[in-house]
Amino acid sequence: MSLLLTNIAELVTNDGDGAGGQPSGPGGFASISDAALVIDGGRVAWTGPASRAPAADQMTDCGGRAVLPGFVDSHAHLVFAGERSAEFAARMAGTPYRAGGIATTVAATRAATDEQLRANLGALRREMLAQGITTFECKSGYGLTVADERRSVALAAEATPEVTFLGAHVVPPEYAADQGGYLDLVCGPMLAACAAQARWVDVFCERGAFGPDEARAVLTAGAAAGLVPRVHANQLGAGPGVRLAVELGAASADHCTYLTDDDVAALAGGGTVATLLPGVEFSTRNPYPDARRLLDAGATVALATDCNPGSCFTSSMSLVVALAVREMRMTTEEALWAATAGGARALRRDDIGHLRPGARADLVLLNGPSHVYLAYRPGVPLVAAVWQAGELAAGRPPA
Ligand SMILES: [Zn+2]
Repeated sequence: MSLLLTNIAELVTNDGDGAGGQPSGPGGFASISDAALVIDGGRVAWTGPASRAPAADQMTDCGGRAVLPGFVDSHAHLVFAGERSAEFAARMAGTPYRAGGIATTVAATRAATDEQLRANLGALRREMLAQGITTFECKSGYGLTVADERRSVALAAEATPEVTFLGAHVVPPEYAADQGGYLDLVCGPMLAACAAQARWVDVFCERGAFGPDEARAVLTAGAAAGLVPRVHANQLGAGPGVRLAVELGAASADHCTYLTDDDVAALAGGGTVATLLPGVEFSTRNPYPDARRLLDAGATVALATDCNPGSCFTSSMSLVVALAVREMRMTTEEALWAATAGGARALRRDDIGHLRPGARADLVLLNGPSHVYLAYRPGVPLVAAVWQAGELAAGRPPA
């Protein structure tokens, strides 16, 4: 059963050639005005001007609205219990954020039943989908025992193929006096228990979490177990995380808030995506990463939510796009690209993040005539309908 979406004011395809200062192509930002799109068999079958659209079994009139690729959220922590609104309120009242707050969520997560964790994850997943996120990555990292990490990874794998083992999130309290012992646990039995259900391995490489030698040990062990590295890097200060990520061929270096010229050059010259998470800076009142510097140097930039109960509890990619445009001097095209195609690159996926024929038909219908509305109308729920693999998954299309 094929479906024709027509009367689309702006169809963002991300099928550009990278010309004109847009994100480097092929696959750079591109859009078609007065467009139509045909879905068949869960895939994009055709895109082009509405006046030349082929016939299809069914038709939906988009009423002069914009259609975008579904958002690809390449960084989220959704397997947890409890919440930390009191910590947020204290932080807004002047208490600086420290990574140790994670221990609060670790205790709550360990105490939760599988059903409680599954229900919380499911609620966040539906919340994301309703806001246009059609693919998300999900990390473990609030269990920090072999059994609790194994179940975190297993629960994440029920919800997404993009599962990340993050046993090296923080050293749990019971290992406070034995960081080396915890590292051995992560690289040994914990990794062995988690690797089969994960695709990625991640480490929080930061002062107060794991140093460069420890991060290297975790990522190397993960790679030996068949996982691809990604790194929490340079969030709270300059450090070795970004260069380690590039050196080890990580898919992405995430945060990138404090970068030296060497870090920027490494990202621009390597295959590692710089994933920026401005919701964190918004929620911790820290300086935003310098997206302009990365883009001007030629680095590939992705935007993601980092949805987690501590440093950034948003599931809104629209907010992230608005922050990137308003606070990080990204153009609206760059920000939209980074939240879709950029996320796909950070997950090494070529079937999502764009709407070229053959792509998975993950689409967002916006209540507005162009992608610009995401930043132009911040805080407004603009996502009218969401299709996932060609099926209506949230919202409703125009009658
Ligand atoms: Zn994170």
